[in-house]
Amino acid sequence: MSDTKFAQEGMSFRQSVEHMVDHAIEIMELDDGLGEALKTCQSVIQVSFPIEINGRAEIFTGWRATHSAHRLPSKGGIRYAPIVDQDEVEALAALMTYKCAIVDVPFGGSKGGLVIDPAKYERHQIEAITRRFARELIGKGYLSPAKNVPAPDMGTGAREMGWMVDTYRQLFPDDINYLGSVTGKPVEHGGIRGRTEATGRGVQYALREFFRHGDEVKRTGLEGSLAGQRIIVQGLGNVGYHAAHFLQTEDDCRIVAIIERDGAIINPDGLDVESVHRHIREHGGVRDYPEASFQANGDEALELECDILIPAALEGVITSENADRIKAPLIAEAANGPITFKADAKLRERGVEIIPDAYCNAGGVIVSYFEWIRNLNHVRFGRIDKRFHEAQGQHIITAIEMATNTTVPEWLREKIARGANEFDLIRSGLDDSMRLALQDIIEKRREHERIDDYRMAAYVIAIEKIARSYLDIGY
Ligand code: NAD
Repeated sequence: MSDTKFAQEGMSFRQSVEHMVDHAIEIMELDDGLGEALKTCQSVIQVSFPIEINGRAEIFTGWRATHSAHRLPSKGGIRYAPIVDQDEVEALAALMTYKCAIVDVPFGGSKGGLVIDPAKYERHQIEAITRRFARELIGKGYLSPAKNVPAPDMGTGAREMGWMVDTYRQLFPDDINYLGSVTGKPVEHGGIRGRTEATGRGVQYALREFFRHGDEVKRTGLEGSLAGQRIIVQGLGNVGYHAAHFLQTEDDCRIVAIIERDGAIINPDGLDVESVHRHIREHGGVRDYPEASFQANGDEALELECDILIPAALEGVITSENADRIKAPLIAEAANGPITFKADAKLRERGVEIIPDAYCNAGGVIVSYFEWIRNLNHVRFGRIDKRFHEAQGQHIITAIEMATNTTVPEWLREKIARGANEFDLIRSGLDDSMRLALQDIIEKRREHERIDDYRMAAYVIAIEKIARSYLDIGY
């Protein structure tokens, strides 16, 4: 998307990611050949196909890159955007490889992109384009439950995933595991509750875990708990909206600015995320939102005073040009690649702490993993053991009451004698994965004298795991 911003830095998005990984490889003193093998995108296809739009053929071009297949399937979203190219797709595929390793999801890394402005097309046109794109990917071995499983990303959602899985099913009606060919599907078509909000929820869980570590919070100069922290969010789309919504309603954070395509709205007392979201849906942007001041140059709002900055829109928004003006002491990278390589160095020099994308936005792929397992198992989580656990809880209550000759209060009785449903289990699994991964990252940073930021710690963890796998089974 932000090709020009990367170009101004003298390197592409892919090169920006590679430079960060180079540093980790150097710290680990990995063999040069192995380092190169780790960074190399293993395969990529470009497809171009015509679709009839309003009586005239229009050509659409897209890519799917598999950065790694050391674990199968390779996993990663498909984005629909007016500007997307092979370099960007390869950069995002590489991030997927590292992301999966960091949060212990046994997938390789992949990513896809289609050049399209979805806002310019009607629903039936997007359906025709999506089904054809899916057919192209399937035909070339880039979409199947065993080898390569797409998910939503920028500009796509459950609707597009539903069309893709249906296309796969029509082509392979005998594949009993067809539902596992795509994740992020509508719940009625093999999707899982909690996937839509998973990435934003994961950002919330990452911040919650961060604030459980007093020594880490101290590095930022911030104090106290997550409650009351002043947050700026860029991009109120799927990831940004859910992160902001949960942080506001469940953690009492104050969302002081929201940046969208048409500008930024600011209110130091806090914006109501739900009502801003509604305003965007109704008016197409944040302009004229009543309870805030408006700034037409949205990018400048990244530089406002706040405690936590959450870029959740697109890559390359913090560059060497604006890095020195960023005031947030803590940045949670909800988007992929929002900070360029050069900006990253500048921010670190100034002591800004960054929770890196490859960890911070991994909630989506974690829940995609759960969805894929559920599709292959052909049974929803909790279906078999929910009532059993409820009966166990009931026995415990009876034992307590008999032993103490008292009655367990109703509210506690409900909690003890309640079996977890699928939604509870998904949230618990996501929370656990995000907590454990950040604990590992913090630990790695503390134990390794040459690591002084979370991104490097996360990459070293990822590369250790992937390198081990390459060395064990060959390249
Ligand atoms: P989305 O299309 O739902 O939302 C993007 C939002 O950013 C939109 O509201 C859009 O209007 C806004 N935006 C676009 N350009 C902007 C600009 N220049 N300034 C301010 N706002 C702008 O996309 P999404 O799925 O929420 O993805 C956002 C980021 O998160 C991307 O980097 C994506 O790769 C990453 N991500 C998404 C997922 C997921 O599950 N959807 C998972 C991991 C990472």
